[in-house]
Amino acid sequence: MGTLKNCSECGKLYTEVGQGMCRDCYEKEQEQEQVVYDYVRDHDKCGIKEIVDDTGVKERVVLRMLKNGRFIAQGLEITYPCQSCGAPITTGKLCSKCSQDILNQAERIKATKSVKKSDHSSRMFNFDRD
Ligand SMILES: [Zn+2]
Ligand SMILES: [Zn+2]
Repeated sequence: MGTLKNCSECGKLYTEVGQGMCRDCYEKEQEQEQVVYDYVRDHDKCGIKEIVDDTGVKERVVLRMLKNGRFIAQGLEITYPCQSCGAPITTGKLCSKCSQDILNQAERIKATKSVKKSDHSSRMFNFDRD
């Protein structure tokens, strides 16, 4: 059972069973993920840019693996830039300094008036480490 969808990669109509893309693209991405795993195993705490440059795998694929906690599940850590200042981080989406800044800012905003919060930003890299 599944619903028909257009593949987010190639646009082909396929039956969605939870993989988010058609079978061909999914298999291709599985291969790419394996390439990335092998690379990260040999390059502990390497950065996303290095992975993309050295393996030729699309950054989007690496980011998705990261978001899904795939590296952490394997006991691997990779670094990627803090979304605010670009410092290398291994978890979350901001470095500790920037998250602290945001907390401080939030406190200030809360102190002055209640502003509608932007919750889009919390979706990327928002995984738990348990
Ligand atoms: Zn496809
Ligand atoms: Zn930062």
